[in-house]
Amino acid sequence: MATAINVQSACTEIEWKTRQRLAACYRIFAHFGWDELIYNHITLKVPDEDNAFLINPYGLHFSEVTASTLVKIDIDGNTLDGSKYPVNKAGFVQHSLFHREKPEIHAIAHTHTTATMAVCSYDGGLLPINFYAAMLTRRLAYHDFQGITVRADEGPDFLKSLGSKRIMMLKNHGPVVMAKTIEQCFQDHWALQRACEIQIQTLSMGDPVLISDEVVDRHMAHLHEAQIDPTAVGAPEFDAMVRLIDQKDTSWRE
Ligand SMILES: [Zn+2]
Repeated sequence: MATAINVQSACTEIEWKTRQRLAACYRIFAHFGWDELIYNHITLKVPDEDNAFLINPYGLHFSEVTASTLVKIDIDGNTLDGSKYPVNKAGFVQHSLFHREKPEIHAIAHTHTTATMAVCSYDGGLLPINFYAAMLTRRLAYHDFQGITVRADEGPDFLKSLGSKRIMMLKNHGPVVMAKTIEQCFQDHWALQRACEIQIQTLSMGDPVLISDEVVDRHMAHLHEAQIDPTAVGAPEFDAMVRLIDQKDTSWRE
């Protein structure tokens, strides 16, 4: 608690709110089982600051992350807030590349969930065979596996693979979901996870029913009609999940 008060008093109100939002996101990912021991990252830009990002402290499980234990770093992964926790610099390499090259992207999640990793390892990738996949297949980029993503010289290849897309399936590895807001990042990861889970179940039964290009077009064109507020994609869903995780444990707020 003393740590929480120290960190809160040392940062701006907007940074503290951003810390809480990201800490909640880690707890939500843990709730869904999208965690991987102490690995993987969700990063979020600190508003109104150049070159400042929040990342999970290396060594803590997603379910242990709190607003005050998140580490504030610069684009090169150097700690800015005097945190006692280390940062997995190797894991931040790909995040820093996208934060640097795509400044409109404020939130990035990279996971190794079984379902997304399996589809990343499937030759056909994500197929247009279910409701969720139909809203995602056109939005996905794919990147060939080149080994663990710690080499800066893979950067140009990442950017070439990504093109104008914002969700990239790292083949044989896992997805990188990028968005302007943490809420949309969560929502896109959730939809991708569901699409992948359902694809795996569907293919286990035999041949899937393919959705035509024409229907995919129509599906994507009308999706916004199902949203409460198309200007705040993922926010109502995120808020509902915050209420759910609060029923279990509110320590993420500190
Ligand atoms: Zn990874």
